[in-house]
Amino acid sequence: MIHLILFGPPGAGKGTQAAFLIQRYDLKHLSTGDIFRANIKNETPLGLSAKSYIDRGQLVPDSVTIDMLKDEVERHPYGHGFVYDGFPRTKAQAEALDAFLAGREERVAAMVALEVPQEELKYRLLDRAKSSGRSDDADPEVINKRLEVYSSETLPVLQHYNAMGRYIGINGIGSIHEVTERLTTALDPILA
Ligand code: ADP
Repeated sequence: MIHLILFGPPGAGKGTQAAFLIQRYDLKHLSTGDIFRANIKNETPLGLSAKSYIDRGQLVPDSVTIDMLKDEVERHPYGHGFVYDGFPRTKAQAEALDAFLAGREERVAAMVALEVPQEELKYRLLDRAKSSGRSDDADPEVINKRLEVYSSETLPVLQHYNAMGRYIGINGIGSIHEVTERLTTALDPILA
């Protein structure tokens, strides 16, 4: 199975590009943010505990997130593979994913990272808030917190896969189509 990590800060365009990637490479989209939001909507115990973190711009604890992710992967044994969107977001999550895949004699194919400067991200998130209905997008303080958490807790994941030679940086500025083209150029040789 293919295990592709789509990486990038909040507002970089991961959800948008994931929709393209799953079509092109016949993969399943696995977004931890979407799974949490579905659980919040359905008022499950997982949703109730995740909500308090998400509303403050903090990460949901690793133990909860890692178990949820593994369950989700195991629920889909027959497909071509997955695009991970929003996971791994900490070094511990990356190590847990690597160990989990190693246990299946599989590994991360690549980590593609959408690169977008901070000022542009803030603008995009506030703009997205108008249509997403996401309260974590509407509050500048929560946005700042998320960007801070990204720098301190999530950037080490980039270094982790870079050291393993799996990191591919993609310029995330430009039209959706332009970014899609860059992803295709980088990934076709590996996945197509
Ligand atoms: P964005 O990329 O715009 O921040 P996401 O939908 O990926 O949005 O995530 C929304 C929120 O869900 C995050 O701010 C965080 O609180 C929580 N979350 C998502 N994925 C993870 C993860 N892998 N580990 C911990 N918390 C997560």
